[in-house]
Formats: sequence, structure tokens, C-alpha cells
Amino acid sequence: MKIICIGRNYAKHIEELANERPTEPVVFLKPDSAILPKKMPFFIPPFSDEIHYEVEVLVKINKVGKYIDSKFAHKYYDEIGLGIDFTDRDLQSKLKAKGLPWEKAKGFDGSAIVGEFYPKEQFDLENIKFQLFKNEELMQDGESKSMLWKIDELIAYVSQYFTLKKGDLIFTGTPAGVGAVKPEDVLVGTLEGKENFRVKIK
Ligand code: ZN
Repeated sequence: MKIICIGRNYAKHIEELANERPTEPVVFLKPDSAILPKKMPFFIPPFSDEIHYEVEVLVKINKVGKYIDSKFAHKYYDEIGLGIDFTDRDLQSKLKAKGLPWEKAKGFDGSAIVGEFYPKEQFDLENIKFQLFKNEELMQDGESKSMLWKIDELIAYVSQYFTLKKGDLIFTGTPAGVGAVKPEDVLVGTLEGKENFRVKIK
């Protein structure tokens, strides 16, 4: 399986990182080795001193598709979840400044937190509400209606480049409020007010 991530999909997050507003989705990949096994703590990697959390709505692809029309994109997923796209912000900034790929800053081991999935019928897909708490303090408060590109548009867009396969995950981008973690922090993600994942930082 592969993990397809969308960058800069929420206007306020673009502003907080002083990024340019894209004219089409920003896409990058994480390898499957990036997924942190469930219940494991996240160990800050030795090469980094600035790991940021980014809470994101996840979409799980349920069948093979290529050149999917956004009208039919809803047939390619049944489940919605929540996760974190951990980012080595310091390294990403250096790579960005040089125009180099982000993979080392985005795809390292443990950089993908994947929480629980629920049937999409349980959600108002136009307005999925999700939050990230750090040590019980609300850090990110998202709603999918603020996405620049909606889930179905993202599926149509990325499937032009990558054949989607059953089990692939799409990380749909993070809202504003990203920030750094330190050892002993506890991150909790909630989807529609219900705890979806909990991860301890080491
Ligand atoms: Zn992200």
C-alpha cells in the first residue's frame, strides 16, 4: 500500500507557514514503513529537533482506480479515519529552500499515525469535524468544509498520476495550529468529538 499526502489544503495553514497558495494540490508520498504500529509511542528521531504534528482526515481506498472522475470518486472509498502527518519542520524548511524533495522530512519511520476508520455514512462528508489535543489542550480544530480541494476532487486529481489500490491511504492536509512536540507529550485526535487515536511522544 502507499500513503498519498496532500499539502496546503487549508488556507489558514498556508498562512501560518507563509506558503504560497497553490493553484493545484500539493502532493507527496510516505512509504508504508512510515506507519507507526498501533499503541507504540512515537520516538523523536535522532536527526531532528523540530517535529511538528499535523492532524488530518484520512481516506481509505477500497478498489483499484485510475483517472477517476470526481463524480465517481465516492465509489472508491467506504471509510474515513484520522491521523497525524508528523513532519520534521526544520529539515523540510531546508529542503524547501533548496527546491529539494521533502521525503526525508515527511516519510521517516513512525511519521504516519493512522487511527481508527469508520464507515463514511457516519459522516457529513462536506463538513467532517476533527481536533487535535496536546496534553489535553486544543491545538488544532478542523472542519473539512475548509478544504481547498474536497475529498472527491483529491481522489480525481491524484489518480491521474498514481493508480489507486485497495488499502491506499490519502492524508487530506492539515488545518492551522500545527506545532512542535517534545518527549512526554500526549497527542489525542478526535473525530466528531470521539477519541480516534492517542500517541505518546518519547
Ligand atoms: Zn500534512
